[in-house]
Amino acid sequence: MPDYDVIVAGGGLAGTVVAQSVAYYSNQVLSILVIDRSPSHLPGRKNISGWICGDAVSKEAVDYMTEHIKVPWTEPEIEHKVKGVMAFSPNRETSIPFDGDGYMLNRQKLPEYQNERARKMGVDFDFEVNLTGLLYDDGQVIGIQGIDNKNKQPYKKTAKLVIDATGVTSMLRNQIKNTDKIERKIDRKDVESTGRHIMYFEKGEDDLSEFDPDYCIIHLDQDIAPGGYAWVFPKGDNKVNIGLGVEKTSLEKRNKRLGKNDNVSSLINEYVKRNRAIKNPRLSMDQEDKYNVTGNFQVSVRRQNDCMVANGFMLVGDSAWMPKPLDAGGIGPALIAGTIIGKCAVEAIQSGDVTEKGLWKYNKEFINEYGYKTAGLEVFRRLIQTLSNDQIDYGIKHFLGNLDVEAISRGEHPEFSGLGKIGMIIRGALNKKLAEGLRFTAQQNKWLTEHYYNYPETPDGFYDWRKQLHKVLDESNAKFLFFEN
Ligand SMILES: Cc1cc2nc3c(=O)[nH]c(=O)nc-3n(C[C@H](O)[C@H](O)[C@H](O)COP(=O)(O)OP(=O)(O)OC[C@H]3O[C@@H](n4cnc5c(N)ncnc54)[C@H](O)[C@@H]3O)c2cc1C
Repeated sequence: MPDYDVIVAGGGLAGTVVAQSVAYYSNQVLSILVIDRSPSHLPGRKNISGWICGDAVSKEAVDYMTEHIKVPWTEPEIEHKVKGVMAFSPNRETSIPFDGDGYMLNRQKLPEYQNERARKMGVDFDFEVNLTGLLYDDGQVIGIQGIDNKNKQPYKKTAKLVIDATGVTSMLRNQIKNTDKIERKIDRKDVESTGRHIMYFEKGEDDLSEFDPDYCIIHLDQDIAPGGYAWVFPKGDNKVNIGLGVEKTSLEKRNKRLGKNDNVSSLINEYVKRNRAIKNPRLSMDQEDKYNVTGNFQVSVRRQNDCMVANGFMLVGDSAWMPKPLDAGGIGPALIAGTIIGKCAVEAIQSGDVTEKGLWKYNKEFINEYGYKTAGLEVFRRLIQTLSNDQIDYGIKHFLGNLDVEAISRGEHPEFSGLGKIGMIIRGALNKKLAEGLRFTAQQNKWLTEHYYNYPETPDGFYDWRKQLHKVLDESNAKFLFFEN
């Protein structure tokens, strides 16, 4: 008999939701163990610097989880409420609203409450265990292994099913041996180097493009945050989560262009300094931010893993590269996937089939709920990274219609239908190139979305489906060399 029915590897944001979902859908019949390397008084910490995140999540995603698995999130894990996200063009002349009502979380507090709720649902926890790999029996994952840092002894536990929620750097996914469908590694260009501070400040100039207590602000600017974006997210009237993310090669190009030698940390500090609405900023000394005030981490900005199941094994959250390619929002998809994975895991265990085939439904259900749009957004993000500030200014001002803004608001790729309008005059060669690029990504997005809705019902059709997907992604990437400025 295995030690547990389900082992959740990684007790971060996704891991705790998964554990609660399995408990909920099995009426607390299945035994569940969550294993995390963090100490029990700092659960779910990403690394030594804390729970590094922008802390923003849409109300819609939280509601999705609450409606399905009946777990409510309240204060103090919800620290502040916002009406949405506002993305500003580099010249600040135009802004795009998206996401709608949302929450700013306290990520240090959240896991404390999440774990308490999970415990009440019968979930067990083991802390300070560093997982290093999976255990196999004849091609089936049957458990995990690692080192118990409490006593420095080898650690092994078995289960019918292992769900990997150990985040973007997952050692379990990196080294998995019983599948050729799950991708192990990621392209460097699909990773953003990011960081942020949590700060208090005194009010400076009134400027709602710099700080707005009601909106999360995003600044698109290839000088400030090359290949990514910078953000000012309110945590109160005089408290902020402020940071940025960059793509490494875009940063190198920007440094060369401006004759500078900046890195993520120096860019963040510069960004804080130049904000006119924020005076005398200082790191939060609140007890509930004590271990979480500043730090850097990485986040992926691509489609989710092409396949997220193997015999006895499933992937979720950052370990499955779920953050949205456009804005690196990973909490929403982790809540959705965490909810769905619990249901699929319980069904598979109860039907006695935890093979790749028995778990396959999770791939389909996640794609139908959320994952259908991510490959298209990945292609769109790659195009945006090639643009100059002038092109971004022009594009947002002239090429985005109301329907496009609504699409972005839903987290989908805009159609830029206005680009097809007869008589539309586009000024400048670079803007003509931009229009061509947008037409191209809109067209690729259409194909990709349809392709994802046709994700195979069973593992049989996967290789053919993947071959077609990669052909189109490779073609798109080759084309972006032409759009590169
Ligand atoms: C700077 C930054 C800003 C962001 N801003 C936002 C935002 O505003 N909104 C949003 O939606 N998303 C944002 N994201 C993404 C979001 O933070 C993640 O998507 C989210 O935390 C993913 O949760 P997770 O549980 O999958 O992974 P993680 O939060 O990384 O949790 C993984 C857990 O596994 C544990 N673990 C890892 N390896 C091992 C191991 N070998 N053994 C045992 N345990 C292990 C870790 O200690 C941790 O507890 C941001 C990310 C960054 C880096």
